[in-house]
Amino acid sequence: MLLGVIADDFTGATDIASFLVENGLSTVQLNGVPQEKVQVEAQAVVISLKSRSCEPSQAIEQSLQALAWLQHQGCRQFYFKYCSTFDSTAQGNIGPVTDALLAALGENQTVISPALPVNGRTVYQGYLFVFEQLLSESGMRHHPVTPMTDSNLLRLMEAQAQGRCGLVTAAEMDRGAEAVTEKLQLLAQQGVRYAVLDTLNERHLLTQGKALKNMKLVTGGSGLAIGLARQWAQPGHGSPQSAGAPQGEKAVVLSGSCSVMSNQQVARYRQQAPAMAIDVARCLTEPARAAYVTELAHWVQQQANTPLAPLLYATAEPEKLQQVQQQYGMAAASQAVESLFAGVVKQLRQHGFSRFIVAGGETSGVVTQALGIRGFHIGPCISPGVPWVRAIEQPVSLALKSGNFGDENFFARAQTEFPL
Ligand code: ADP
Repeated sequence: MLLGVIADDFTGATDIASFLVENGLSTVQLNGVPQEKVQVEAQAVVISLKSRSCEPSQAIEQSLQALAWLQHQGCRQFYFKYCSTFDSTAQGNIGPVTDALLAALGENQTVISPALPVNGRTVYQGYLFVFEQLLSESGMRHHPVTPMTDSNLLRLMEAQAQGRCGLVTAAEMDRGAEAVTEKLQLLAQQGVRYAVLDTLNERHLLTQGKALKNMKLVTGGSGLAIGLARQWAQPGHGSPQSAGAPQGEKAVVLSGSCSVMSNQQVARYRQQAPAMAIDVARCLTEPARAAYVTELAHWVQQQANTPLAPLLYATAEPEKLQQVQQQYGMAAASQAVESLFAGVVKQLRQHGFSRFIVAGGETSGVVTQALGIRGFHIGPCISPGVPWVRAIEQPVSLALKSGNFGDENFFARAQTEFPL
């Protein structure tokens, strides 16, 4: 195992895991730090935490546990992954977690590289941009939990960490990996603990990969993973995606997302495959819900021989959703739908279903939990940011799509483009 990644949230973990696989490393993503023994075979492991906006002390504790686990697996390099918009508050958690990881590893320098040029996140003179806007002038200034009102990464980092922050400029990046290494050494001699890396394009990320291969701890968004994975990748080791390729005969599509794209995807798929809408009124209380779960699972099984997998959907247009929420309460309604999906998934698994195509971020979490999945191999991409994944400990494949991901034909394509 070469690279161990500690990601501060679930979607960020999936994001970096896809980049690692695409750039040549077989990768497993784990949901949280494994408490019991798990067998993981991959070149990179990404542990997803929920440490972006919790108390700093909790974020540190979780991150150190993840580090200890990754060290135990023999990882040679460690990567603290946060959002490409440096989502944090004045208290953290990027600074405190970085300090704790440096101390635990006995290191005195790391880099700050949130850039992801392909998504418009670039860094120039230490300032972070979202496309043509400064971070503090982008929508991120109104973020409900981590509003970003400064764009200067050196200031942001120094405000929440213990040490000093320096800069490797775009001009130095242009001069190549050796120039970057020299600058990092110079900064280290001056006692600078964190080096912000200017990044304008993918070439700069590749330079960073070369310059940082021997740095014990790096920190950044998912872009830096492109450069590092290419350094670590060993050609001739087979396809890094193969361990995550979809498997299994019986498939089902479950949509619990009400996003615009999910509504379009459901509307399209209903014309292609058997589909059943979920009646929220029948999910609200037990024992009615249990009976409904069995009825729906039975319906899905009856459709198992159709060319495209059957669809169960709670997906609704905004007016319909609002009406349901007003009638039953928002929390009660979504809780009811989530419990229903959890129940249906468990029954289908018992009846041999092994491919689950799921729409909705929360809904994906519920399905993964109901199946008892602690981690998965990342497979080939269905749409940008949405790979097929295969559970590490059971023969189950999942396509987990949050909100607006994927195109209109996503549900069918997840099946037809990946024939068994
Ligand atoms: P997204 O990724 O689009 O945000 P999520 O699964 O994260 O999707 O969130 C959607 C939430 O809405 C879930 O909690 C789900 O149970 C709930 N939900 C879905 N359909 C309905 C519905 N018809 N009525 C009420 N709540 C619903």
